[in-house]
Formats: sequence, structure tokens, C-alpha cells
Amino acid sequence: MTVPSPDRRVVAEFQKRRTRQIFISLSALVPLALMIGMGGLAEAKGISANVTVPVMILCFAAIIAVLVLSFINWRCPACNRYLGKRFFGVRFCDKCGARFE
Ligand SMILES: [Zn+2]
Repeated sequence: MTVPSPDRRVVAEFQKRRTRQIFISLSALVPLALMIGMGGLAEAKGISANVTVPVMILCFAAIIAVLVLSFINWRCPACNRYLGKRFFGVRFCDKCGARFE
């Protein structure tokens, strides 16, 4: 029995989405770091809640945006279903069986 060869367009599109997914995931680190840093800094430097609260809200909104973008992007190019929380070592779609490499 031969394994069907992967569809080149699916593989190319998957690679594009995976690269995009890396950038999307990394961009979550900025608001996360800011939120963590802000908590400690505000206490140490006595920064007013008028500053920290809006920044926290913005960071929170940015993280939600990252999650939404990730949910939109991280899909199988063949059947368009969500690929799940797994990120590394995804070689094929669990749902339709499309191969990505
Ligand atoms: Zn699929």
C-alpha cells in the first residue's frame, strides 16, 4: 500500500500559516510581559491606577486579539478545521487526513 503524496498547495499553505502562527504567538509575549512588569512596577514606583488600569485593559484586549487571530489562522488548509492546541510536530490533519509535509 502506498501512502498518498501530500498536496503541494496544502503543504505550502500550511507552512505559511505555521510561520504566521509563530508571529501571532510571539506577539502575545509583549502584552503578557507588560502586564507582569506593570504589576510590580506600579507598586514599587507608586504609579497611579489611572495609568495602570488602562494599560492592563489594553494588554488584556491585545491578548484576546492574539487568541482570536490564532484561532482564525491555525486551521487545516484543506478542510479549514481548527488544528487544536498542538503546534509542533503537526504532520497531518486529524480531521481530514491531509498531509502537511
Ligand atoms: Zn483537514
